[in-house]
Amino acid sequence: MTPVERVGFIGLGNMGGPMCGHLASAGFDVTAFDLNAGALERAVAAGARRAGSAAECARGAQVLITMLPAPPQVESVWLGSGSGDGGLIAALEPGALAIDMSTSSTAVGARIVAAASERGIEVLDAPVAGQSIGAQAGTLAIYVGGPQEAFVRARPLFEAVGDPERIFFMGGNGAGYTVKLLLNLTWFIQSVATAEVLTVGVRAGVSLDRLHAALVGSPANSVFLERDVRMVLDDGEYDDAFPMRLVTKDLGLAVELARDVGVPVELSALVEQIHRRARATYGDAAGEISAVRLYEDVAGVLLRLPKT
Ligand code: NAD
Repeated sequence: MTPVERVGFIGLGNMGGPMCGHLASAGFDVTAFDLNAGALERAVAAGARRAGSAAECARGAQVLITMLPAPPQVESVWLGSGSGDGGLIAALEPGALAIDMSTSSTAVGARIVAAASERGIEVLDAPVAGQSIGAQAGTLAIYVGGPQEAFVRARPLFEAVGDPERIFFMGGNGAGYTVKLLLNLTWFIQSVATAEVLTVGVRAGVSLDRLHAALVGSPANSVFLERDVRMVLDDGEYDDAFPMRLVTKDLGLAVELARDVGVPVELSALVEQIHRRARATYGDAAGEISAVRLYEDVAGVLLRLPKT
């Protein structure tokens, strides 16, 4: 098999920008495109070639990667806007490999696979975890769905942007999206659960540091409780690096997935709505832990550990 050399990369935002830079630094011949001129400029400064359009980015690429906000952008970029252009799938050559690393839906993914297979193009879904800090450090976790030989072919690219110990092959097409959505769903359920017990405990008169230490040392502990919520408890930060507009997108996709496979998920639906309320209250750009802030405001308590 020819080693992958010519790579196209589309979507150079908080995540895609640094990922594209890592690919260029690893020696791949990367051509990049984004609708945002500033984002494209930064990618060129980091070593990528400039493309004037998504189709130009696809031309001659052996592997094409997208890192876009949500399913509507993923669908229109890969399949075209419906106004005659066929999108990236039409622009790629047979034998090319298409990889979407966005957090997107299995339904849109299936439509891309169907169009790609008619042109002899293989597809991987490969969403990531690890936030923009992980993208900058090149230590993302990656959850991959699709043909296993395509995963093997793409592995050097994944190693350039991710932690080699946390690049997971999850199964056929859609399995990567599924795992990523469930991972986020679990974390946001824990965010709400943590907000509820901490505000109730503090309102009931228990000191936050004793309550938090007791829960961390109990069977109720979680990574969210022990580590992630500390950003709020220590610094009053709600993590602006992942905005509520993307949080509610991910939770909506997880609930939609459950509906598609016929599993009632009352708890997940409620957790999604609580995050929609937090977004409506604090704005699209508010940080991903804003549900905790919602409970603080409702209960009239500020969850802050004493400074040591
Ligand atoms: P972002 O909004 O910062 O970047 C998206 C980029 O896509 C922007 O630069 C935008 O201009 C570009 N874009 C949008 N439509 C386009 C089009 N039609 N053609 C070309 N470019 C287009 O988003 P992000 O934070 O980088 O997230 C990207 C994906 O990664 C999302 O699916 C998100 O859910 C997922 N994700 C984000 C994080 C995080 O912490 N930010 C963590 C894990 C996964």
